[in-house]
Amino acid sequence: MATIKPIEGRSIHQIQSGQVIVDICSVVKELVENSLDAGASSIDVRFKNHGLDSVEVQDNGGGISPEDYETIALKHYTSKLSSYDDLSSLQTFGFRGEALSSLCALSQFHIITARAIDGPKGTRLDFEVSGKLKGTSVVASQKGTIIAVEKLFHNLPVRRRELEKNIKREYGKVLNLLHAYACISTGVRLTASNQMPKGKKITVFSTTSNSTTRENIASIFGPKTVSALLPLDLKFEMNPSRPTQGARNWSAQGYSGSKEVKILGHISRPVVGEGRQTTDRQMFFVNSRPCALPQVAKAFNEVYKSYNITQSPFIFADLRLDTNAYDVNVSPDKRTILLHDQTALLESLKASLVELFESHDQSVPESQL
Ligand code: ADP
Ligand code: MG
Repeated sequence: MATIKPIEGRSIHQIQSGQVIVDICSVVKELVENSLDAGASSIDVRFKNHGLDSVEVQDNGGGISPEDYETIALKHYTSKLSSYDDLSSLQTFGFRGEALSSLCALSQFHIITARAIDGPKGTRLDFEVSGKLKGTSVVASQKGTIIAVEKLFHNLPVRRRELEKNIKREYGKVLNLLHAYACISTGVRLTASNQMPKGKKITVFSTTSNSTTRENIASIFGPKTVSALLPLDLKFEMNPSRPTQGARNWSAQGYSGSKEVKILGHISRPVVGEGRQTTDRQMFFVNSRPCALPQVAKAFNEVYKSYNITQSPFIFADLRLDTNAYDVNVSPDKRTILLHDQTALLESLKASLVELFESHDQSVPESQL
């Protein structure tokens, strides 16, 4: 008897969904990115019980057209990308059309949406586990979209237990991620709140629309943090890395795009007393897309440590690169970014950071003595 059989469709859906949505951070990332892609200028992220009971994201973006209700939560249905060739010119956060379908598979999920022309009436959409539309009903709603994710992983007992056990740490990570979106999104008012069972709703932080990144940092971390920051404005050409064994480099990759890198943002002054004890206030972006860049973070911290050995810097660093110089489509959760010839980038980055710190007057301003 043959032992190799295809996995049934429903199980495949669950396996794949579990790679897109791995924790509450993924939920928040996908929903906030969808709101930004929908052109929202106001986004409220509401947690119940730190996200264990529910995560709800409300925006004032364009809303969803009735023609899209049937397909919105089906896997690989997206309004943002139709062919792989479009990927390098992508202007949106989303492109895989997997987030909503994955959330249907892993949580109790619904949407309330209204376009400007729908007036004060909106539509509530409920879905089956597969992402198929189950039913619609008319509800009162302002223009925009609310996406509600309740009881994440309710049908994956091992993951649910793991989430419950680590929820404090997970919630801390979620807030760090939200800080990054809130600081970089200068045209957007972003708020986060949490409500514990039987408790009152508490606003965790809030930014205003039309603020600079510096003002956003002040809204979230306080004016004292901002006054200890130095503007980051680095610009350099990446020298192709020396051909080390096995290393990828620009020419070997046949890369023909621009090698110019700009890094814009803010960093703590390299002076003892101006840094921080922890590295949790460090945010990295590639062309304004928040992402984890562990090697870049390491380079920043190493150079900073040579000036202030006891502390770590606050970092807000947006790497502006040619869109062909990196790949965001590395993992289903889109958190990993592959930078071409990272070695060359890191070498040039360290050199220009040293230059910045050396040129900076390291005496503490009088106002802070
Ligand atoms: P992707 O973002 O990769 O397209 P998603 O599953 O996240 O895939 O979303 C599917 C589609 O649903 C999007 O392409 C978009 O058209 C629509 N959508 C999702 N969230 C919103 C929102 N908050 N406002 C308006 N449309 C949305
Ligand atoms: Mg999306």
